Amino acid sequence: MTKVQKYLSTDGTIRISTVISTDLANEAFRYLEASPLAKVLTSRALTAAVLMASQLKEGLSLSLHFQGEGPVKSIFAAATYDGSARAYCENRGAELPEGVTKIGAGLGRGALEVALQQPHDRQPHVGAVELLSGEIGDDVAYYLGQSQQIPSIVALAAIPLDDGMEVAGGYILELMPGYTDDTVRKLEALSEMTGVLTERIQQGATASELIDVYLMNFKFEEIEHPHEIHYRCGCNVDRVERSILLLGPTTLDDMIASEEDSEVRCEFCGKLYTLATDELIRLRQTLPTIPLN
Ligand SMILES: [Zn+2]
Repeated sequence: MTKVQKYLSTDGTIRISTVISTDLANEAFRYLEASPLAKVLTSRALTAAVLMASQLKEGLSLSLHFQGEGPVKSIFAAATYDGSARAYCENRGAELPEGVTKIGAGLGRGALEVALQQPHDRQPHVGAVELLSGEIGDDVAYYLGQSQQIPSIVALAAIPLDDGMEVAGGYILELMPGYTDDTVRKLEALSEMTGVLTERIQQGATASELIDVYLMNFKFEEIEHPHEIHYRCGCNVDRVERSILLLGPTTLDDMIASEEDSEVRCEFCGKLYTLATDELIRLRQTLPTIPLN
């Protein structure tokens, strides 16, 4: 099983989280068909979410919601400190427009909303920035800089296969208060030397090897992160029933009249739920009747 690996420089000014998230990304598409574009962007978002969540405190969780004008429309990725994560892509079949090669065009112009949920808060703490490139990594770095005043390097990698993902992974390096200009210069030079992340993961690099240039040039201590990452949707029959109730009495009446089982597929994990007509009738009875006039 996989864990996020975390490092803190001995002077406390640089922290890094790094992960190989291929298995996690594969779980996101285990039961759901998706285009290469949707898979790459969603895998990057999922990786960013588990990396960011690993730096939270016990019990906390966060979500990243990318919304753009591009064909992918929106991507949502959520993760908890204890490693549970899930992701959703609104238009899983999306392709880049003819002649466009920049993958960020999949999302295009739009916004990234980051919601931080504390266990006892009713409302999450939300910060938002414009999308910088739609490539996910740039956008997360821009958010960290604008919203948290944290200079960072965010490097995310994902290569799709026809079926699932070949590789996914990446790291987030953040500067903590007290860093010097000298550190910034040195890190910028080193970030040029990390190699192409996708190729390095393809060649079998481990999470710590992805960041070896930093580890070799600064003094770091590894911070033990106790939790394994795992894909968990959290969907269940209750949630499915609630989503069906949201369709409203008229639609529900039509579904009952068809006398066919209704199938609902979870958009996060692909699990299929079947509701028989008598279950629909039971749900319908909890809604008000439609006045005849
Ligand atoms: Zn689900």
